[in-house]
Amino acid sequence: MIVYVNGKYFEENEALINVADRGYVFSDGAYEGFRIYNNKIFKLQEHKNRFQRSLDELKISYKLENEIEEIYKNLFIKNSYNKEDELFYYMQITRGVAPRDHSFPKEKLEAGVYAFLSKKAVNLDSYTNGIKVCTLPDNRWARCDIKAISLLANCLAKQTAIENGYDDTLFVHDGVITEGTSTNVFFVKDDIIYTHAATNRILNGVTRNFVLNLCKQNNLKIVEFPLTIDKLSSIDEAFLTGTSGEITPITKIDSIIIRNKKVGKITKKLQKKYREYLDENYY
Ligand code: PLP
Repeated sequence: MIVYVNGKYFEENEALINVADRGYVFSDGAYEGFRIYNNKIFKLQEHKNRFQRSLDELKISYKLENEIEEIYKNLFIKNSYNKEDELFYYMQITRGVAPRDHSFPKEKLEAGVYAFLSKKAVNLDSYTNGIKVCTLPDNRWARCDIKAISLLANCLAKQTAIENGYDDTLFVHDGVITEGTSTNVFFVKDDIIYTHAATNRILNGVTRNFVLNLCKQNNLKIVEFPLTIDKLSSIDEAFLTGTSGEITPITKIDSIIIRNKKVGKITKKLQKKYREYLDENYY
């Protein structure tokens, strides 16, 4: 695979970065993950806004221009992808190279930019039949609204899920379910849809906002209010939202089986509306 690193394109195993890059030493950087449908970047402007916000919050002085689109086009061509390929596009920006010191250097650094474009199809089994998740304490930092590259707590939580026979984890902070390890989470109870508000405790997902709009357009009642863990056993439906999986039904949480493992009607309706939107806008 051909990747982009700091202005040039390389075979992945030939790309070099400076080991003093603060991204390598401190995880000092932000990233975005984009979904490509028919050679078009899904919700480009929303991702761009969130990327810029993450960089600004981290005080990385880098202003995004058209590099997301331009690097994408080049990676698409250089990797000989086709319009039909389901692709995932990743870009990260680190603060740059500096002697190791926790405080930021006074001089302006050249940011480190890395991007790749790879094939990634929706997991059809998870999309259709749902997944099982466990709950674990949300031991991440208190700035989950920043899409920072330091994801070790998320990786550990996902790994713990897999080692225990689950597909993923829902984080729980002070008894409140916040989000998944790389997704936002929605619950349905008595035809009302609940999801955590966009606070510092979650990443405000591009897919989350798209699904919130789909709910509004289809007169589904939505409340941006989180579910507490003690209410889990009474919910009717649950699903995850995210760039890669779109809307993924949840059929089991810890030992609680939801609706006899049958995907609920609101989840199915939103999946359908999502696909209709793609058919109309990304062809
Ligand atoms: N929450 C976390 C922690 C994530 O890492 C992600 C995506 O990577 C999301 C939610 C979903 O965001 P999006 O819908 O923009 O992919």
